[in-house]
Amino acid sequence: MKVFKFGGASVKDAGSVMNVLKIIQLYTDDLMVVVSAMGKTTNFMEQIVDDYFNGKEHNVSLAKVWQFHQTIIKDLGLEDDEDFSLVFKKVITKLEIKLKSESSTNYDYEYDQIVSFGEIMSSTIIAGYLNKEGVENEWVDARKIIRTNNNYRDATVDWELTQALFKSKTGGIYQNNGSRNICITQGFIGHTDTGQTTTLGREGSDFTAAIAAWCLGADDVTIWKDVPGVLNADPKFFNNTKKLSEISFREAIELSYYGASVIHPKTIKPLQNKDISLFVKSFIDPLASGTIIQSNTERDGLIPSFIFKENQLLLSISPRDFSFIVEKNMRDIFEAFNQMKVKVNLMQNSAISFSVCVDNDAYKVPRLITLLEKEYRVKYNDSLSLLTIRHYKENIISELTSNKEVLVEQRNRQTVRFVMR
Ligand code: ASP
Ligand code: MG
Repeated sequence: MKVFKFGGASVKDAGSVMNVLKIIQLYTDDLMVVVSAMGKTTNFMEQIVDDYFNGKEHNVSLAKVWQFHQTIIKDLGLEDDEDFSLVFKKVITKLEIKLKSESSTNYDYEYDQIVSFGEIMSSTIIAGYLNKEGVENEWVDARKIIRTNNNYRDATVDWELTQALFKSKTGGIYQNNGSRNICITQGFIGHTDTGQTTTLGREGSDFTAAIAAWCLGADDVTIWKDVPGVLNADPKFFNNTKKLSEISFREAIELSYYGASVIHPKTIKPLQNKDISLFVKSFIDPLASGTIIQSNTERDGLIPSFIFKENQLLLSISPRDFSFIVEKNMRDIFEAFNQMKVKVNLMQNSAISFSVCVDNDAYKVPRLITLLEKEYRVKYNDSLSLLTIRHYKENIISELTSNKEVLVEQRNRQTVRFVMR
């Protein structure tokens, strides 16, 4: 049994949904198919939530969302499909009723109740289309399977209960050995013990695929993307990017730790724990080999990887009396970062100052500085970039850092990092 994940870009219009069908038909395995909201729907839904929560008019945004989905439904030839229309109408009605009701004062809760409809609509359309094309499938409601706590917008999964729910709700489907069995479910969403909808954080559908694979003991997972696989750099910043054909779970975790936006960071660990391989493949060229992420580390060092972050800020924090930075200072400083939810990208300690490189978040960083300034002197440099090279070679370093002013450099055997201007 395999798990497939199709993200927003792979289901952004009728043509791409037809392509999903073609990809599914290339395989004969049992499948759990996890889908995201179509195209940029989640962003539109976020707009609707904001307006709804603030008691503002949201009919225009809502009409846009309907129209976008109606066009896809029409182009897929589903408009006159009675079974589908009945089901889809129910979805729409539920959302409309929700939006007519009064909002609570908990933004994150309202966000999850509303934004989750993006995935519900998407999965309903895809399941309906596959059925119409003779590819039988079961639509599975992730809001009845993925069990989480009630930390809305960033809910934590209860693995044991979720596994039990997967077994009880989908076990029977996959037991049917006469034919191939396909389930279609939603990424990104789950539910609390009282049945309220939750979400796992933006871009969380990859993580759902890993949860499903872990719970079902899948053979492997494939994330279908608009790139040929995991690349060694972001084509936005680098020419001549190369595909990494094979990397280890460990390398994938390292890459995402340093900021590579390959796969949702939480995705790898559950797969690694059960040694379930992860393929990243192109939905444009589905027969191409893509990238395989698995336990073997042998090929990790073959190609250097580059991770580039712009708009970085280097904070330099020192005691007002020029005394040494000691453990107690570090504790206070980290506590301030934690309290202001500012993520540390890189840090370096010297006798009288502690330097930290962070994303220059216009909301969080000024608040952090104000808090730190109660006890410390804080200086900063902005408009910096942070370059991380995995499996570096000296000649590459000089090429990339020439003409740059390097403010911080850090090296270990596999990784070198520069904060530079
Ligand atoms: N639809 C959600 C998002 O756009 C989840 C996902 O696509 O992974 O963030
Ligand atoms: Mg996505």
